[in-house]
Amino acid sequence: MELPFSESFRIKMVEPIRKSTREERERWIREAHYNLFNLKSDEVFIDLLTDSGTGAMSDRQWAALMQGDESYAGARSYYNMKNAIRDILGFDFFLPTHQGRAAENVLYSTIINEGDVLPGNSHFDTTKGHIEFRKAHAIDCTIDEAADTQLEIPFKGNLDPVKLEKVLNEYPVERIPAVVLTVTNNTAGGQPVSMANIREVSAVCRRHGVRLQIDSARFAENAYFIKTREEGYADKSIKEIVREMFSYADIMTMSSKKDAIVNMGGFVAFRDEDLWRRCQMYCIMNEGFITYGGMSGRDMNALAVGLDEGTEFDYLQTRVRQVEYLGAKLDEYGIPYQRPAGGHAIFIDAKKVLTHVPKEEFIAQTLAIELYLEAGIRGVEIGSILADRDPETRENRYPALELLRLAIPRRTYTNNHMDVIAAALKNVYDRREQITRGYRITREFPIMRHFTVELEPMR
Ligand SMILES: *Cc1c(COP(=O)(O)O)cnc(C)c1O
Repeated sequence: MELPFSESFRIKMVEPIRKSTREERERWIREAHYNLFNLKSDEVFIDLLTDSGTGAMSDRQWAALMQGDESYAGARSYYNMKNAIRDILGFDFFLPTHQGRAAENVLYSTIINEGDVLPGNSHFDTTKGHIEFRKAHAIDCTIDEAADTQLEIPFKGNLDPVKLEKVLNEYPVERIPAVVLTVTNNTAGGQPVSMANIREVSAVCRRHGVRLQIDSARFAENAYFIKTREEGYADKSIKEIVREMFSYADIMTMSSKKDAIVNMGGFVAFRDEDLWRRCQMYCIMNEGFITYGGMSGRDMNALAVGLDEGTEFDYLQTRVRQVEYLGAKLDEYGIPYQRPAGGHAIFIDAKKVLTHVPKEEFIAQTLAIELYLEAGIRGVEIGSILADRDPETRENRYPALELLRLAIPRRTYTNNHMDVIAAALKNVYDRREQITRGYRITREFPIMRHFTVELEPMR
């Protein structure tokens, strides 16, 4: 008999979590103004809000933490991180930052001017926020196929080189500080970008003399998909694939809370020494001195180990197989999600579930609240609340997709938890015809409103 798949780790430390009653959850979500970010974590049973900084560190990472060097300048931990970035990713220059958006802040403070354009494949929300905050424009050049949730293609996160070429022809090169390629493509459903696409985008950038920035939060999951789906890569190691991916980039920004499996940290890395020097000022001003930039020595040490572990095949296989396991359960129940299953999360196609809720009443948010009420499971809306208002017209933007993202933290939950998630979704799905009204906004920020937005039910 063929042995079933199982995890490539065993558990050394546990953290209790608590179930709640529906009455408790109704009260808590009302007190949270129907924004799941406002819930206390103790009010959540299975927390799928994000896979960012919520993973379990390994014994090796905890050991590295104890050996952190907290020197202000030139700490050993800084050099451990520097060596890992050079050896695994192939960049000689970098600046540590406290997380990914801080890396964006340091970089974009240096390279973006008002009126600039940055083409990319579905820019991440903080990336778009940092671009638009500087009165520049993020132009989405994702392939059209990404918007069809039921279409099964291996690299649904790709950037369309024809759309890119068009933008690069339309604007003068001085107005384009970088092309932003996000791997995996989070906003399109954790969908990977192929090596062929990275290579082609890079060639287009070179031809036009524009820098290529890889937004790299989930680069290792992307490499796993290249290995398992793209011709010619099956026999290459994840680390070889990662080196090739970054060989095409001029800059990488990294949220280490994702594929470097730490609870806090990030960096921006450069091929160009001059750009690295120009960015140092913003690092010192906003983050800290260039050899710690917002991170403690212990965190830089854990990050260095995390980069190594995060680019090992067995770890990645365990992770992606768990997401696929949840996807297979949803298939069994006929619940529509962005296909195929992404690297770090399942994205439920909320428009296909709640067909009676009008888009003005926030379909994906409504589904997120229903799932929380059902079983204390916290997901997150990737839809029109996240999309913010148009910066010029101040009208709500309604993206093609209304998704409920269920992000799976790394090495944290078991497949029994996945079974509970699938069953809870099935219960919501079975009563979907009764859900006809959504929510209205009562309070919001002008930018990145989803974190703090307050809502009330329409009924
Ligand atoms: C998480 C993330 C960021 C921002 O990183 P933070 O660590 O949350 O600040 C940027 N881009 C992508 C693709 C991400 O997933």
